Amino acid sequence: MTDTQFARRFSRKTGILELMDDLGRAMSGDTAMRMLGGGNPASIPEVNKVWREQINRILADGQEFEALLANYSTSRGRLDFLDSVAGLLNREFGWNLSGKNIAVTNSSQTAFFFLLNLFSGKAGGEAARLAGAAGAAGAAGTAGIPGAAAPGTAGAPASSGTRKILFPVCPEYIGYANQTIEENALVSRPAGIELTRENFFKYRVDFSTLDIAPDTGALCVSRPTNPTGNVITDDEMKELARLAEAHDIPFLVDNAYGAPFPNIIFRKVQPLWNRNIVLSMSLSKLGLPGVRTGIVVAREDIIEALAACSAVVSLATGNLGQVLVKPLMDSGEILALSRNIVLPFYQQRARLAVEAVREAFGSRFPYRIHESEGSLFLWLWFPELPVSSRVLYERLKKRGVLVVSGHYFFFGLEKDWEHSRQCLRLSYALDPAAFREAAEIMADEVCRIMDEQA
Ligand code: PLP
Repeated sequence: MTDTQFARRFSRKTGILELMDDLGRAMSGDTAMRMLGGGNPASIPEVNKVWREQINRILADGQEFEALLANYSTSRGRLDFLDSVAGLLNREFGWNLSGKNIAVTNSSQTAFFFLLNLFSGKAGGEAARLAGAAGAAGAAGTAGIPGAAAPGTAGAPASSGTRKILFPVCPEYIGYANQTIEENALVSRPAGIELTRENFFKYRVDFSTLDIAPDTGALCVSRPTNPTGNVITDDEMKELARLAEAHDIPFLVDNAYGAPFPNIIFRKVQPLWNRNIVLSMSLSKLGLPGVRTGIVVAREDIIEALAACSAVVSLATGNLGQVLVKPLMDSGEILALSRNIVLPFYQQRARLAVEAVREAFGSRFPYRIHESEGSLFLWLWFPELPVSSRVLYERLKKRGVLVVSGHYFFFGLEKDWEHSRQCLRLSYALDPAAFREAAEIMADEVCRIMDEQA
């Protein structure tokens, strides 16, 4: 059809496309499926009620409904919403943000498309000259952003070459893979594995392998992490932030599941923001994946660059999510909703999911569960699985259990890692009874595989 660089990068069969297609096909097939794949948040009646009330409020207003449908917002979002986000975060965390530190994007997935490309790819030479020219013309370009500075600028990490995004803890969210226009722009380091207690483990940042090279354009983590439910510790975050600052590169922190909303985080940790940190948030896991609203908190020049990207790609941001949620931000109700409804809901689902797996698996074969610290996922490791996780996934699908094979989440590694073929991601957003059934089928299938290979 076409053979452009863009087509080669974005229209081929990527891992995320394969995964989404396969999940979609399996769900529309003849076999009744227990859906433990996908990343859809649960539909929580108390939360849905709030959205219904907000819609009714908007409809009851003589003008708001028409205004939200009929007007473009700015490419950074609605200005009153940006102030509301800054106000909420300042009150909650004692930060000193203004609306100029906030940009809305049409999903946090889109925000990452912009961020990963702003900080990776060809740099120096022509790219730097253009960035400098944009700055000189007063346009919202990449001028002034670390990693995009012109050659010779103090603090610029590299004057030329291809910059890369470094993921310090692999496995990481598959949604980042394939997002860069430049090929091979994502590199990751294998997580350290801490065996925390019998049948459990936790990924750690292995600082001994974390070499920030001159071509590193940014560090990036999700916290809580999709797919593992890991929450990188405060000490690890501080050290990553320190390294980013020392190398004058941004630290991208994906807070799609974190505080203060949706607050699907089971550990007491300190949210972190500073001039080097780009904090990404989303309305999706609060129960609004359909409105496609991402929120980025960053220094003003980074926000301006994001707004410029949004203008090029989508002119303006969608209004609906912002209009639905703004009153809840101003009143603080979004905090109560997240703490009192969303958090306990997922905490209970996580507890039931762990219980179901432990009871179904017993001591029939070796397995470990990643410590469940947040997000919607349980991450299982089968250290002695004689087949790959992809084969296990296919076999489970035939038995009506849909999971995600862990191999998708191990992108950017320099060396093969056996561990990457030994893990599965299970969503526990599903009804607990169906999850329990799925865990029993899974145990049975793993036993069969072990017997076949014995
Ligand atoms: N970041 C992480 C860690 C996610 O798990 C997801 C979705 O599953 C996203 C970002 C994308 O969310 P959004 O719906 O805002 O695009």
